[in-house]
Amino acid sequence: MSGKIRFAPSPTGYLHEGHLLSALYVWAAAKKWGLQIHLRIEDHDQGRARPEHIAAIREDLQWLGFKWQSESIQSAHFDSYAKILEALQQKGLVYPCYCSRKELEEQNPKNQYGEIIYQGKCDGEQPLDAPHSLRIKVPDKVINWHDLRLGDFAENPKLQCGDFPIQDRHGCWTYQFAVCVDDIQESITHVVRGEDLLSSTARQIALMEILGRTDPPKYLHHPLIVDASGKKLSKREKSHSIREDRDAGILPQELLGRVLFKSGLIPNPAPASLEYALELTSRQL
Ligand SMILES: [Zn+2]
Repeated sequence: MSGKIRFAPSPTGYLHEGHLLSALYVWAAAKKWGLQIHLRIEDHDQGRARPEHIAAIREDLQWLGFKWQSESIQSAHFDSYAKILEALQQKGLVYPCYCSRKELEEQNPKNQYGEIIYQGKCDGEQPLDAPHSLRIKVPDKVINWHDLRLGDFAENPKLQCGDFPIQDRHGCWTYQFAVCVDDIQESITHVVRGEDLLSSTARQIALMEILGRTDPPKYLHHPLIVDASGKKLSKREKSHSIREDRDAGILPQELLGRVLFKSGLIPNPAPASLEYALELTSRQL
């Protein structure tokens, strides 16, 4: 096999149907493109990650029939993150940001995804003994990248989000930083994930470049499960977990059929084997 793809859930809750659809895309891509599958538990946010959810990720995937070749957990990488942060600080690429959430909301414009575009208020400020996040200085340049499903993008992270946090006010590593370090250190060649992460890609490519990786992974962002009216799953629907279905006696085939149906891949929610589900998903790639 010539490359590696990752499935990277956060153990901040149980897996739900959205995760299952993402897993189908990752496993289908691995099969189609001949890639190794790496399971990465993204517990960078130590305030929200729970041990019972870590165990449940593995159990639920195995129950559904998914197999993977390697595995890692971000909390085992924290020393390595700290060393990388130190190197970035020595290069003057990181600065503390003392802005409160309220100030961030009030003092910065927003992009089309509703995210703030940080205007660099704290860049060059005298260090204070006060709670702060750490932001990385992003270069003011256009990142050209290609999505294997959606086509070409040209985005400037400086204009899209501005300097972004790599550590939050509580000292937790951010998703953006952890994922970039891991994608580099774990030699990930393909990233397949939901469209909700589309806005993260240019800034991740920019950060990886700063960290020394100039050949970013290939990206594909898949459609999300929507409700009957075409809206993203509500919080209530999301909180309905695979674990609850298992406990209610629902079979993996029934669950797979339901996710295929909700994704518009089959016309009725009939039970489906994992093999059939992967075959159908593969046609979307
Ligand atoms: Zn600030």
